[in-house]
Amino acid sequence: MARVAFIGLGNMGGGMAANLAKAGHEVHAFDLSSDAMERAAAKGCTPAASPADALAGVEAVVTMLPAGRHVAEVYRTAVLLSAPKSAILMDCSTIDVATAKTVAGEAGAAGFTMVDAPVSGGIAAADAGTLTFMVGGTDEGFAAAQPFLDVMGKTVIHAGDAGAGQAAKICNNMLLGATMAATCEAFVLAQKLGLDLQTFYDISSKASGQSWSMTSYCPVPGVGPETPADRDYEGGFATALMLKDMKLAMEAAQSVGAYVPMGGEAEELYQRFADRGGAGKDFSALIKMIDDSWQVPPAPGNAK
Ligand code: NAD
Repeated sequence: MARVAFIGLGNMGGGMAANLAKAGHEVHAFDLSSDAMERAAAKGCTPAASPADALAGVEAVVTMLPAGRHVAEVYRTAVLLSAPKSAILMDCSTIDVATAKTVAGEAGAAGFTMVDAPVSGGIAAADAGTLTFMVGGTDEGFAAAQPFLDVMGKTVIHAGDAGAGQAAKICNNMLLGATMAATCEAFVLAQKLGLDLQTFYDISSKASGQSWSMTSYCPVPGVGPETPADRDYEGGFATALMLKDMKLAMEAAQSVGAYVPMGGEAEELYQRFADRGGAGKDFSALIKMIDDSWQVPPAPGNAK
């Protein structure tokens, strides 16, 4: 079992660090939030007084931070200064591809092996240790990271070189965002055309319109398997997080000149829904905005 530094113990990182500790690793945990530190300590992690304290003498480092700027800062001010060069560095945050490549380049130049390893699956999967990891880095980096990622997830896939994990993650989530928007539209149109929504589901889930957004995450309450729609769109994957990923995808598309009209339309829809008060709701609640029978007043100052 290894000594591991874990930085970023929020909604996702808290459960992931706990699973490493449960598997017998010695997890030295750091977060700016004292509440997050207390929760991690209660789940078997050792709270560290500073990032440097967490990083001393470790064999592996995991970061699970909000965005690219946090990752770059933590790497430049702590990880690359205080971790042993032999440690495998794993950034599991969802960040922009450009920052992922830059930080990996800086880590490599300083003599470290680093992978980007963003995840698919939400808080429940982080707690249960059933995440899917998409890994970018060398074969050597992937081999060193895999035993740790296996503890926190059920599927670990080597996507390619540095940045490839982030690229796979945002392409997947752009696709998810667009198929959910299209699925919401189809249900609204079906209803307005007088179709019974369960009947439409039964047909479309077995026909060519089928997608994960329909059969595993149906946006209509009472139709299909149990989803956030059945809990008034609470829990699940917040619109704010989907919007973050859509923006990362748009940024990446622009950087390489890719034409992504469906992704662009979907991003605008989630932005409008977030501005109208939907940011905290599951992203499938978009159906309520698409269906004009949903009348929630725009948040003050955010009217579009
Ligand atoms: P979160 O905001 O709950 O947690 C982030 C944690 O990082 C916070 O506890 C914060 O205090 C800590 N932090 C920020 N800056 C820090 C610093 N300099 N040093 C130490 N700690 C610092 O976010 P989350 O939901 O856990 O998401 C983490 C990452 O995972 C994000 O990139 C997110 O996009 C991605 N993700 C989230 C989900 C989800 O469902 N929540 C799913 C997949 C991927």
